[in-house]
Amino acid sequence: MEIDIFNYFNLAFVCCCLIFSVLLLIIYFSKKNMDNIENGIYKNLLFLDVICFIVSIAFDIAIFNYDLGDLIILYKLYYASLILWAFCLLVYVFIITIESRENIYKKIVTMRSKYSLMFYISLILLCLFEMIIPIYKRNISDYSFGVIMGPGVYFFYACIIIFLILGIIIVSINFKSTNKKKLIPFYIISILGVASLVFAVLIPKLSIIQLWMTIVSYIMYFTIENPDMKMVTELEFAKTQAEQANNAKSDFLSSMSHELRTPLNAIVGLSEMIISSDDISEVHEDGKDILKASNNLLELVDGILDFNMIESNNLELVNVRYNTSDFFNSLTDLIKDDLNSKNLEFRFRLSDNLPEYLVGDKNKIKTIIYNLLSNSIKYTSEGFVELNIDCTIKDNKCILRISVSDSGNGIKDEDISFIFDKFYRSSENKDSSINGSGLGLAITKSLVELMNGKIVVNSNEGIGTTFFVTIGQDLSQD
Ligand code: ADP
Repeated sequence: MEIDIFNYFNLAFVCCCLIFSVLLLIIYFSKKNMDNIENGIYKNLLFLDVICFIVSIAFDIAIFNYDLGDLIILYKLYYASLILWAFCLLVYVFIITIESRENIYKKIVTMRSKYSLMFYISLILLCLFEMIIPIYKRNISDYSFGVIMGPGVYFFYACIIIFLILGIIIVSINFKSTNKKKLIPFYIISILGVASLVFAVLIPKLSIIQLWMTIVSYIMYFTIENPDMKMVTELEFAKTQAEQANNAKSDFLSSMSHELRTPLNAIVGLSEMIISSDDISEVHEDGKDILKASNNLLELVDGILDFNMIESNNLELVNVRYNTSDFFNSLTDLIKDDLNSKNLEFRFRLSDNLPEYLVGDKNKIKTIIYNLLSNSIKYTSEGFVELNIDCTIKDNKCILRISVSDSGNGIKDEDISFIFDKFYRSSENKDSSINGSGLGLAITKSLVELMNGKIVVNSNEGIGTTFFVTIGQDLSQD
């Protein structure tokens, strides 16, 4: 391989890029960063910068001793790191452009671990693919553009073009809702990108792409990714959220007064009727309605009190030893009346692998199951409601697996990420005659988390909903 001044120049040049990138990496990690999705992707970009530059340096050193044909593996590594880098940039653009679409963004945040897994699997697959498919050296003595060819090179160009097109589509679709300031760095990056491509074609021996990558990382750091600026933005966000929570509380109070007044009025009105009535059967009917209204009232007040306790962190676990079969079988009594009034089939399966006795806060488990079952009954007009209780023994603990399913109308995709928020009710439920405070699931989730458990929901609109809860309980030593 013929060595010329460009090789020395490239080596020095990429070393500078590496130094600047490592410097940026150090600055970035020495500051406090927000744990958000954009930062996660930006970190990957910084690491990929460094990897790519190390590969470039290895290539520029090796070229002094070897022929290009012997350096195929380095070429592949270089292309793979560029593809991964471009992919990260694409995902980054996607995230910052959809940030303003709260529904989608919140969904991504709630399922972050799942999406992170998908993201890393995509990175691995892209990398593997680039490493597996062949590239070869063309029979050209000159070290110029097109000297390396083959499917690996086409795959690299295809990826870059596809990512570019996808990037343009994503920005155009979300252009209106995106904060325009956030897009300015990308305009600069695009202009510099085109300039460096022209350079790469005109002077192929000069590695200009590394300079572009370093500039991109710096521009992103000093504009959108600067941790200090991020802190300010996050603080502003926290402030707006606190204000929203405060407004929600006021709305809640006013709607609660309405909710409280309805059963109270019924109780007062019916009591007056009882006093002035001589007809014993009428008195009997009115008495039944008073009882119903009083129970509604009690449920509402209980919900508010529970929630208040949870909010002020005053709720503690009261662990007792209980007989599992007696306890879980008694739960069905809680919903008997509700079930009968709606003519729903109730399916109940208690696994026989449950230990006879467990130790835990059974009253909180009762509230969790009751909240989920009463929701299922409330939001299902025909079909069934099902309760399954199962367990696995792990590390001397019993992991209770509770699922509550129904054949109701299900939850709309746009509502699902909000249903555990306090005071949240889907828009059609707010307007419908179905009573509710929007506190049930918020309380349920807090109780599950208090017991270090997990709750997830799976719902298909028009088909039904299933809530899965896992909670650890101690095994009884007696
Ligand atoms: P609510 O008092 O409104 O029932 P929750 O916090 O218990 O409040 O539930 C929040 C929202 O979640 C409900 O308004 C409803 O839209 C939805 N939801 C909860 N459980 C179900 C279910 N089993 N089927 C359909 N929608 C449900």
